[in-house]
Amino acid sequence: MTPKKTNKRKTSKPAKSTKARGKTARAAGTNPKRVAAILAKLDEAYPNATCELKHENAFQLLISTILSAQCTDVRVNQVTATLYKKYTSPEAFAHANPRELELEIRPTGFFRNKTKSVMGASKAILEKFGGQVPRTMEEILTLPGVARKTANVVLGTAFGIASGIVVDTHVQRLANRLDLSRNEDPKKIEQDLMQIIPREKWIQFSHQLIWHGRRVCAARKPKCAECNLEKLCYSKDKTV
Ligand code: SF4
Repeated sequence: MTPKKTNKRKTSKPAKSTKARGKTARAAGTNPKRVAAILAKLDEAYPNATCELKHENAFQLLISTILSAQCTDVRVNQVTATLYKKYTSPEAFAHANPRELELEIRPTGFFRNKTKSVMGASKAILEKFGGQVPRTMEEILTLPGVARKTANVVLGTAFGIASGIVVDTHVQRLANRLDLSRNEDPKKIEQDLMQIIPREKWIQFSHQLIWHGRRVCAARKPKCAECNLEKLCYSKDKTV
């Protein structure tokens, strides 16, 4: 779609309004050249972006990702620093005392549900997958407490398998602000992003958007003056 000039800044403003929420039509900002420019800027700013959940193997990353729902990675890392010393395997989590585990993961919030998910996923890994975290989207989604976001984190970061794009709260917000998707449902946003981001970039792109969301493009008061995507961004949330 042909970009329209703004009278404020030299940004590639789209011909149509960015307020068309919930529409399935491709966002106006998905012009391949613009997308390539955004990817280049993200590479420039975050060449080494990676998952910030501390883990030593795929199983620990799975557990940490389950615990990270509605919680910061910093808090999860604090909890798992002691948790993984006590529970060293899927067997240990599967046979945990649920009341004890609830208390141990309580600081991450939603601890009752998370305990069920952690123990359920550990049991399923033991009973259905020989003690190993499965490596396909189809299989990993059968684990209790695992939806696409968690599956993409584990498959991408632990195994280097690009099965999709992680859409957490940061990716959701940034995809909208950068007009890469006009959907609000994470599943639809992921589909939109998978259409326009080259597959070999899926894993890194997820990490980079999450880093950008945490460090610069915060939900409230984004630091647009410090943002290297500023010239490519025409979000109504811009602060410059
Ligand atoms: S210019 Fe502002 S709103 Fe746009 S991506 Fe950068 S920080 Fe976010």
